[in-house]
Amino acid sequence: MSIPLQLLFLGTGTSTGLPLVPCLTAGNPYPRLFTEMVPLIKPSTPNPPKGAWNPDGPWPSSIKCACCRSAVDPEVPEGWKNKRGNTSVVLRKKKEDGKWRNVVVDVGKTFREQAVRYFPTWGVDTVDAVILTHGHADAYFGLDDLREWCQRQGRAIPVYLNQETFDKVADTFPYMVDKTKASGGGDVPKLIFKIIDDEAEFEVEGITVQALPVNHGIYFHTVPAPSSGSGPVEKLEPEPLICLGFQFDHSIIYISDVSSIPDRTWELMLASGKSTSRKPILPTPDDTPPRSDSPSQSVDGLSDISASPSSSSSSKVLVIDALWPLWGHASHFSFGQAIETALRLKPTYTYLIDSTHPTSHYMWEELCLSLLDQHGERGDHPDSAQAEWLVKKAWEMVLGSGANGDKGLGEQWKEFGGIVRPAWDGLVLEVNDGSREGDVERLEQSTRGLVY
Ligand SMILES: [Zn+2]
Ligand SMILES: [Zn+2]
Repeated sequence: MSIPLQLLFLGTGTSTGLPLVPCLTAGNPYPRLFTEMVPLIKPSTPNPPKGAWNPDGPWPSSIKCACCRSAVDPEVPEGWKNKRGNTSVVLRKKKEDGKWRNVVVDVGKTFREQAVRYFPTWGVDTVDAVILTHGHADAYFGLDDLREWCQRQGRAIPVYLNQETFDKVADTFPYMVDKTKASGGGDVPKLIFKIIDDEAEFEVEGITVQALPVNHGIYFHTVPAPSSGSGPVEKLEPEPLICLGFQFDHSIIYISDVSSIPDRTWELMLASGKSTSRKPILPTPDDTPPRSDSPSQSVDGLSDISASPSSSSSSKVLVIDALWPLWGHASHFSFGQAIETALRLKPTYTYLIDSTHPTSHYMWEELCLSLLDQHGERGDHPDSAQAEWLVKKAWEMVLGSGANGDKGLGEQWKEFGGIVRPAWDGLVLEVNDGSREGDVERLEQSTRGLVY
């Protein structure tokens, strides 16, 4: 019998997290860029819906940013979904002893705060392994907060990451990779860094993992210029930053930060029925905690990764980066690119993550519902006017037909008929492992978490 895999959304927001304090304090002018993304529309009715923007009203109704306002205004029914931590998920699976094992993907700047919100309600009482996507602050700055788990669990926590991310971690937290860099008396987390290849396939706590390298913007580094007489001696060489997406148990594809997907990664995602060459886990670097005090070295499955089942032709769930609804971004997908990706992969469910203000959760929902002509059916809402504007703009700019009459993304989606929704912090899904047919279930544990 297959063991279901649970996917718990610990954070679904971009690097800043939401809401943003400058939006809440409203001490600065509302940036023009924001009004071009979501215009400020004052309700024209004499009795505006509760939670509507009122420039002359008391805080928080006076906050201009619809997204950040509704995150702190209890009058907006689903406003709390606009409180978003850095993108992160917990994968959870039961082992033979009947106990859950928890694998956390990314521990960013908001890891501790999000764990406070959700771990007690979810019953996540261990951190058995961590997987890092890339070396940005919103993916690994919370590593230091793992120390309490290391102490109480009495063992080191394995952290799976590629070499580039390991180098960033080593620069930022020298004491985590070299004990001699820790000052006396200070407690440090005991982590075992498992450096993986960008296309590694491995198993952790009973979960099959296929790494999916994607580009996440470009950075420039200086290289010597070819000697050409009087020209510059150095030039800037562009190089994509690799972020690792993942396929879990052949049923969930998770891509948190992406600006383009290389052809080779498309092949990995679309591979059907055949496993690609299996890359071994590279040796743990010598300067990580010694094996003697780290029983988690015996992470299940590492020695027998060839036992994992073959790939299914498509995943049931796609979780994908969508920073903005209308415009492109140098380091992230926007709505149109997320939709294009989903149309190619054809998952049953697509969840959008990494979104940022001023687009509110309600507006994202309306945008997604417009793909199946189900928008504008939910009565009066403080964001109704902005949502209507956004849907219209999205169909003009992103979803409508091409200049030469090609089928637009919107029409293609209607033919496909898949479900796409914005995710939120606290959402919990349960997915079977792909070895049998079955639906994806949204569990009762989907929650707004503790209020503190
Ligand atoms: Zn805002
Ligand atoms: Zn990033």
